[in-house]
Amino acid sequence: MSLSLPTQLFVDGKYCDSASGKRTPLVNPATEEVFVEVAAAEVVDVERAIDSAQAAWEGGWRDLAPGKRTEILFRVARVLRENLEAIAQMERLHIGKPIADARDEAGLGARVFEYYAGAVGRVCGETIPVARGGFDFTLRQSMGVVAAIVPWNFPFPIACWKAAPALAAGNCVILKPASLSPLTALKLGELAHQAGLPPGVLQILPGSGAKIGDALVAHPLIRKVSFTGSTEIGRRIMEMSSRDLKRVSLELGGKSPNIVFADADWQRAAESSPMSVFANTGQDCCARSRVFVERSVFEPFVEKFVAATEKLVVGDPAKEETQLGPMVSAAQRDVVEGFLADARGRGSRFGTGGGRPLSRGYYLSPTVLLNVGIGDRCWKEEIFGPVVAITAFDDEAAMIREVNASPYGLSGSLWTNDLSRALRVARAVQSGVLSVNSHSSVHVEAPFGGFKQSGLGRDLGMAAMEGYTELKNVYVAA
Ligand code: NAP
Repeated sequence: MSLSLPTQLFVDGKYCDSASGKRTPLVNPATEEVFVEVAAAEVVDVERAIDSAQAAWEGGWRDLAPGKRTEILFRVARVLRENLEAIAQMERLHIGKPIADARDEAGLGARVFEYYAGAVGRVCGETIPVARGGFDFTLRQSMGVVAAIVPWNFPFPIACWKAAPALAAGNCVILKPASLSPLTALKLGELAHQAGLPPGVLQILPGSGAKIGDALVAHPLIRKVSFTGSTEIGRRIMEMSSRDLKRVSLELGGKSPNIVFADADWQRAAESSPMSVFANTGQDCCARSRVFVERSVFEPFVEKFVAATEKLVVGDPAKEETQLGPMVSAAQRDVVEGFLADARGRGSRFGTGGGRPLSRGYYLSPTVLLNVGIGDRCWKEEIFGPVVAITAFDDEAAMIREVNASPYGLSGSLWTNDLSRALRVARAVQSGVLSVNSHSSVHVEAPFGGFKQSGLGRDLGMAAMEGYTELKNVYVAA
C-alpha cells in the first residue's frame, strides 16, 4: 500500500506548519535511517491551538446533544477502522513496533472510541434527599480544554484512551505526542475531523516536551493535564499544575511483579511470562520485570522461562512473525545497556541475552538476570527495556513485603490455584492493576492506573470519563 505520512501540525481542523517552520527528523529504529521530517510546534503554536480549542468548546461542543456526540464518536471509530492498516504501518515505522502488534493496537484505539461513544450520557448526576421540601441534584459538567501528553511506547492507543473519554465528556483536547512518535496522533486528528469532529475540538501538536511542555501545562485555559510518561516528568507536571490547582491525571512508571506459587500451573506461567516482560521490547510500563518464584519450582521454572525466551522471534518489525522489534532509539538502548553493565559489575548471572542480536537497528536481545541483589539497580529501578530479574522466595509474607517495597505500584501477575491465597495476595499487593493466572493488564471497560509513584487518577472505563468532568451540586429551595 502507498502510505502518505503526515508532516505538519493539526490545528483548527487542518494541517499547518509551525510558526517557526522548524521540523523534527524521524528515524526508523529498525534501519537507523531518517525517513521523514515533521513540523515541531513552538510556544506560539500552543497558544493559538488552545485559543481555538476554547472557542470550539464555547462555540458548541460542550452543549452538543449527547446523541449527536455519540454519533460523531461512532463515526470516528468507523473511520479509524477503515484506516487500521495505515495507522499500524506508521506505528511500525516511527517506533519499530512489530506489525502484528501494531494492528492489534490500532484496533484497540478504534474500540476505545466505540466504548466512549456508547458511554456519552452514562456519566450523570444523582438526586440527593437534603433539607425538607428542597430539591438537590448533581451535574457532571465538562471542564473545557484538556491537555493530553503521551509517550512513545504505545502512541496510538494511549492517544485514543485519553482523547476519547475527554471528548465524550464534552471537552476539547490538545494532544501532544512524544517527539519520537507523532505520526499516528496526527493521523488520529485528521481522521477524527474527516469523521465529523468540528474544527478545534481535537488539536495535535507534535513538538519537544522540553520546549512547549511548560507553556501547555501552565496555560490558564487548560483545565486538566492528562499525562502518561516517566515519573520524573509526571512530578514536574504535578508541581506546575499546583500553581493554579489544575486537575491532573498521571500514568507513570512501574516495576511490576510476577508472582508464581508452586501450586500453580507454573509450566504455563513459565511459558507465557517472557512476553509479559519482553513484549514491545520491554518498553512497557506494565512489564513484569521482577519475577518471584516459590523455591521448590525455581530451577525448572527458570529453565522453561529461558527456553521460551530463546524461542522469541526478534527481527524486522515489518514481518508478520516478528515478536520483538528494535528498541525505540539508540539513546534508549544505551540506557538499558547501562543497566546490563551494572548487573555484570555486581556479578549477576545471565540466563540468556545481554547482547545485540543484529548489527543494524537498535536491537537488544531479551535478557534474563539471575541472582540480582535486592539493592541492585536492575532490581529496584524501571529499566524500560527487554530485561527481567528472577528470584526465589520461601515465605509469602516476606515476598509480599519485598513486592511492596517498590516505590511503584502499577501492575502485576499472580499465579496460584489456591483461591484463598489468590484473594489474600491480590488484596495485599499494592498496585492499581493485578491479574491472576494471566498477564492481561488492559481492558477498555475497566480502570487502569497506578498506586504510589506509578500515578494518580485512572485511564479507561467509566472512571476515566468521570475524571474529565467537574461535579456540581445544585440545591433548589421549595
Ligand atoms: P517522558 O520522557 O516522560 O515523555 C512523555 C511525554 O512527555 C512525551 O510526549 C514528552 O515529550 C513529554 N514531555 C517531556 N518533557 C516534558 C515537560 N517538561 N513538560 C511536559 N511534557 C513533557 O516518557 P517517555 O520516555 O516518552 O515514556 C516512557 C515512560 O512512560 C516510562 O517511565 C513508562 O513507564 C511510562 N509509561 C507509563 C504508562 C502508564 O500507563 N502508567 C504507559 C506508558 C508509558 P518529548 O517526547 O518531546 O520529550
